[in-house]
Amino acid sequence: MIKENLNRVREEIAEKCIKIGRNPAEITLIAVSKTYGYESVLKAVNCGQKDFGENWAQELVEKYDFVPKDVSWHFIGHLQTNKAKYVVPRAEFIHSVDKLKLAEEIAKIAQKQNKLQKILLEIKTSEEATKHGLTSEKEIEEIAGFCKENPNINLVGLMTMAPFTDDEKKVSQSFVQLRLLKDQLNGKGFGLKELSMGMTGDFELALEEGATMLRIGTAIFGTRNYST
Ligand SMILES: *Cc1c(COP(=O)(O)O)cnc(C)c1O
Repeated sequence: MIKENLNRVREEIAEKCIKIGRNPAEITLIAVSKTYGYESVLKAVNCGQKDFGENWAQELVEKYDFVPKDVSWHFIGHLQTNKAKYVVPRAEFIHSVDKLKLAEEIAKIAQKQNKLQKILLEIKTSEEATKHGLTSEKEIEEIAGFCKENPNINLVGLMTMAPFTDDEKKVSQSFVQLRLLKDQLNGKGFGLKELSMGMTGDFELALEEGATMLRIGTAIFGTRNYST
């Protein structure tokens, strides 16, 4: 199942890229394995999958030791400052930095680990109260400025979640907003490369607006069961 799903998703990404004149090789497909055990991750690894996404520190810790070390972990869930110590040693990318305090803590831990931690800033581009992320331009620039000066943090891009709706216009607007913010920050010399946007239901729209990292769970691993 996972193999067929992965192949289908990869094909869909490639087809969409060709249609809109983008190079599929520029897209990182992150297989979001939250709620699925390490066995599922290993199956995907055996199909050549290299990038995986997790939402909770505890789950990342549990799976990490069972999975080959050349896998790249992306932490994509809301991260409490006091949990950063579990995530920094394991994640190549942290997509969900939404506070200066969190960036400072990540920098502190990364320094102890002698690591250059790649991070993205999570931006709230929808009105949904359940979604996390930065909204204030001043705060965004403040954190970006901190990262620029810090030797243990590499701010590589921006991340967002589109609103959960069938209204494609609203979804696209959310992605456009992220792309424009990236351009704006790059105009101020921040040199951001990545746009982490697009999930199972909206990755084609995200590709149209310039996504470089897609975070796809359901289409690869199946519907999640949160009760187990
Ligand atoms: C769960 C999750 C995803 C994957 O969602 P699917 O709809 O299953 O593809 C992507 N990004 C974040 C932040 C998530 O929490």
